[in-house]
Amino acid sequence: MTMSALGEPCVLLKLGEIVLKGKNRELFERRLIDNIRFALKDLDLKTDVRRRHGVIAIFLPQGSGVERADAVAQRVADVPGLVWIHRAWQVAKDPDTVVKAGLELIRDSEEVRRGARFAVRSRRRDKRFPLRSNDLDRLVGGAINDEYNLPVDLKNPELTVFIEVDRDEVFIFTGGIPGQGGLPVGSSGRALVLMSGGIDSPVAAYRMMKRGLHVDFLHFSGIPFTTSESIYKAYALVRKLDRFQGRSRLWVVPFGKAQQSIRTSGQDRLAVIAQRRLMLKTAEEVAHRIRAGALITGDALGQVSSQTLANITAQDNAVELPILRPLVGWDKTEIMAEARRIGTLEISELPDEDCCSLLAPKRAETRAKIEDLKQIEKRLDAEELCVQLADSIQEYKL
Ligand code: ATP
Ligand code: MG
Repeated sequence: MTMSALGEPCVLLKLGEIVLKGKNRELFERRLIDNIRFALKDLDLKTDVRRRHGVIAIFLPQGSGVERADAVAQRVADVPGLVWIHRAWQVAKDPDTVVKAGLELIRDSEEVRRGARFAVRSRRRDKRFPLRSNDLDRLVGGAINDEYNLPVDLKNPELTVFIEVDRDEVFIFTGGIPGQGGLPVGSSGRALVLMSGGIDSPVAAYRMMKRGLHVDFLHFSGIPFTTSESIYKAYALVRKLDRFQGRSRLWVVPFGKAQQSIRTSGQDRLAVIAQRRLMLKTAEEVAHRIRAGALITGDALGQVSSQTLANITAQDNAVELPILRPLVGWDKTEIMAEARRIGTLEISELPDEDCCSLLAPKRAETRAKIEDLKQIEKRLDAEELCVQLADSIQEYKL
């Protein structure tokens, strides 16, 4: 048996926005590496995650094989902070071996079979390597051209062989999977998502995780006046989203009785906004207890009557914590496309009995006045009520 020039399969990661960071870059990269290591625990495989100059490399134990390396690549593709994930090969650091590896890498590919136009792109992170990247391009490109008779096309290649000369080895690969982009989860702090069983809030949660927030989830259920279906949905959604951050927690507030008192205490048309304010006040109380620095909702401007500018203002007025609304400028079709992409749409579309259905007035107020809402809250003793509600939350562990 002849030795393969390709060496061991590994995974090479390209960082996203982190590269724009100045002095803090080191902190962000450390956080990202912690997150990657945590995500890889699922795989039960001894991996070695190393920070290199501007990239991260994941090495597997010798002989792990391509399938495991693929599994590692798939898993880290969910970790925010990365823009590209390359299933690469770890090649010995001398030009002859690199040429052989380049030939071997594409030997059985469909592109070689059909004579595709190709290019070689090299990068030399270690300047001690004897060949410059242009020379390496030409050396490997020439060999590929001789061996397989493929035409070179530098502008618009159908097949690109990437070669990256690093400190201890050369990485070589063809394609890659796009990463999630954004920042490492946790680098922006913690927040609490108000999570219905609907389409919007899971997408909002995802968008904010991608901006570096680690989130907890808070769901208001209509129990004892509704079934537990909405809780199961919220739970299923949290499970689906957990792959982006890990350590997710779902908190559930039994909200039915509080909703009933809202219904009996105020004008019908204000009930929805009064309820939303009570949810936010309760969420703020919970946020303080779990040290979350912001609330997140799936509101989109004008999408429904509770999301007009006046009603958003009335909601902001209910709490002191900032309310982050990543979807505020998104169309419903855009939100749905994103929900489909991250795998939450099919769960959100399952039928349930949302607590909001308990108080849907015939005509909802689109311009709620804060004074009127405060009147309702006085009658409800909302300040006390939201503490009681926060006391009654139940944690659902994954
Ligand atoms: P979603 O698809 O997220 O349910 P929606 O379009 O149905 O949103 P609303 O019902 O007005 O809009 O809810 C607006 C936001 O209020 C939601 O995105 C969510 O953040 C929060 N919210 C609504 N209902 C609940 C609930 N039962 N539990 C927790 N948060 C909720
Ligand atoms: Mg909803």
